[in-house]
Amino acid sequence: MESLNQQLELPIARIRRILSAEVVSVEDGYDVVIIGGGAAGLSAALVVGRARRSVAVIDAGEPRNAPAAHMQGFLSRDGMAPSAFLTQGRRELEGYGVEVFQDRVLSIEPGFTEHLASGGAVRARRILIASGVADALPDIPGVRERWGRDLLHCPYCHGWEVRDQTLGVLGTVPGSVDHAHLVRQWSDDVVFFAHTYRLSATERDGLAARGISVIDGEVARLIIEGDVLAGVEMADGRIVGRTAVFIRPANMPHDDGLFAGLGRAQVITSAGAGAVAAIAINADLVHEDIQHALRVRASA
Ligand SMILES: Cc1cc2nc3c(=O)[nH]c(=O)nc-3n(C[C@H](O)[C@H](O)[C@H](O)COP(=O)(O)OP(=O)(O)OC[C@H]3O[C@@H](n4cnc5c(N)ncnc54)[C@H](O)[C@@H]3O)c2cc1C
Repeated sequence: MESLNQQLELPIARIRRILSAEVVSVEDGYDVVIIGGGAAGLSAALVVGRARRSVAVIDAGEPRNAPAAHMQGFLSRDGMAPSAFLTQGRRELEGYGVEVFQDRVLSIEPGFTEHLASGGAVRARRILIASGVADALPDIPGVRERWGRDLLHCPYCHGWEVRDQTLGVLGTVPGSVDHAHLVRQWSDDVVFFAHTYRLSATERDGLAARGISVIDGEVARLIIEGDVLAGVEMADGRIVGRTAVFIRPANMPHDDGLFAGLGRAQVITSAGAGAVAAIAINADLVHEDIQHALRVRASA
């Protein structure tokens, strides 16, 4: 009996996988290799897979929102676990012959050949880098443990869940003040921990006008009691009770240095960016296919 891929007449016959050695080998290469299998990469894969391109997704399996239990703000998927969202996405790709590999791209040669951490390499006519971004978190005790739980960054993702609670915003970068004004939309009780950020008089006025108190001095640690945030301890020993704290982390490429061009603030916008990029890639391949067909006809 024919496999689903054979029924779909997808060109996977030319793909050879040596699973025992955890090496991926492709004779002629894929039309598209997508680096990163988060919302952006899987969404792109769905589009080019459905366009009958041969597609591989190489995914290191560390999506940005992994620490969060729920994914909010994606119409029809609101509240879903991030892992369930990706599992469902991968399942949908199977029907279109898209291959997803758990691996990490270490380097890319022009042309394109991607070298993998497992030791193999894949070739592709086009690549899409959808590897997301890393969040640079301040080195404060408690921050890493509470990240994505009650130390939050995106009020559109988590603001509703902590509405009307005692909230804080940690000052680290100039955008932190804007962040405090934004977070104020979800609660009347917001304090701004100046921490390492030097507030201007104008910024202090703006915060005061909206009822956001400023706590000067550096933050020493987040206080955690019974696996929930109970407050913030200042370097001088003061304790400010808070149930959630927001920060605006700096976003940077991952350690591998791959440029993270597609990353967007939210899952739905990342998925949209992936779809847009995939349509552009397929159009580019069609153009190349036309040139190839013309050359073949001319030489016939
Ligand atoms: C704590 C937290 C909670 C969040 N909650 C929400 C929310 O509720 N709702 C919402 O809309 N948004 C939320 N976000 C934002 C959301 O996580 C991002 O918008 C989304 O993950 C971006 O998708 P992406 O596909 O661009 O990147 P990612 O989801 O980060 O996926 C990128 C993938 O590429 C892989 N990768 C990286 N480098 C390589 C490499 N060299 N080779 C192979 N693979 C590689 C990674 O391991 C990862 O699996 C949250 C973010 C954080 C930090």
